[in-house]
Amino acid sequence: MSSMLAMELRATAMPLTDVTRPVPRPAAHQVLVAVEACGVCRTDLHVIDGELRNAKLPLVPGHEIVGTVVETGNDVHGLHVGERVGIPWLAYTCGACHYCLAGQENLCDLARFTGYTVDGGYAEYALADARYCFPLPADRDPHELAPWLCAGLIGYRALRFAGDGKRIGIYGFGAAAHMIAQVCRHQEREVFAFTREGDVAAQRFARKLGAAWAGGSEESAPSKLDAAILFAPVGALVPKALRDVRKGGRVVCAGIHMSDIPSFPYDILWGERSVRSVANLTRQDATEFIALARQANIESSVTPYALRDANEALRALRDGHVLGAAVLDPKVKASGTV
Ligand SMILES: [Zn+2]
Ligand SMILES: [Zn+2]
Repeated sequence: MSSMLAMELRATAMPLTDVTRPVPRPAAHQVLVAVEACGVCRTDLHVIDGELRNAKLPLVPGHEIVGTVVETGNDVHGLHVGERVGIPWLAYTCGACHYCLAGQENLCDLARFTGYTVDGGYAEYALADARYCFPLPADRDPHELAPWLCAGLIGYRALRFAGDGKRIGIYGFGAAAHMIAQVCRHQEREVFAFTREGDVAAQRFARKLGAAWAGGSEESAPSKLDAAILFAPVGALVPKALRDVRKGGRVVCAGIHMSDIPSFPYDILWGERSVRSVANLTRQDATEFIALARQANIESSVTPYALRDANEALRALRDGHVLGAAVLDPKVKASGTV
């Protein structure tokens, strides 16, 4: 174990390149993890496309990492070799700024992010600061666990900000939505799923997961919603969702990047409706979501890809051809190899 396969972004707006890199060694607070699975998230597309600026280059993307600890640094406490861990988007926070001290480490000015400002999990091995990893159940399929680490966590944070309302609209029915729909069902809420226009497969998928209604994002909600969660990175959905929610209703934008929001008349915001974004996650979100996911017995639908086929997985996600989540697995054979 001295070298490893990694998929590397060398310049933005370019396909990833497969490279052989030395297996890194953990510093004092770090663990070295053998990657079992790494989810492919829409944020990876925003990083690769350069819509999120100042990515580390060259970069190994990927921030939904499930793996086994194979080596620990001298100052690691509470994680052990052989243990299965999850490595999420939040890689490091300063612990001293106004936000960190106020319980909002997700907003830390000095935060670092996995697969964006530090290398991530599109590789056979990944390094992570042990203080930001958390144990995952050893008895579950690693493919199924990968989407928990961002789609699940960010989706959960968005659902918390949506409040206690019963009627939840979900706009964009991908990896995060398919998990949050199951949480809503567990919490006895009603889900209204809005997909790309004419995406019958996604609408059928949403109904299968318990959605009370599914239709195209251009359709009006069948009755007023208590809250709307936008997973699709489409700014035009903000005024649309404002029109779908009742007075006092909330519109939560869960994505890290969105196209421009068109101007809209004040009267659709009037009535104490609100719009807010969700940024990153805290370690508390991770702890809460993992407990909830186990309790609600959330199942993820995943399409596994070989690590070497990362570009293909990204293309499928971009084109809207993934039902549920795409996951890279270093042990799956690449297409075209024998
Ligand atoms: Zn901080
Ligand atoms: Zn993500």
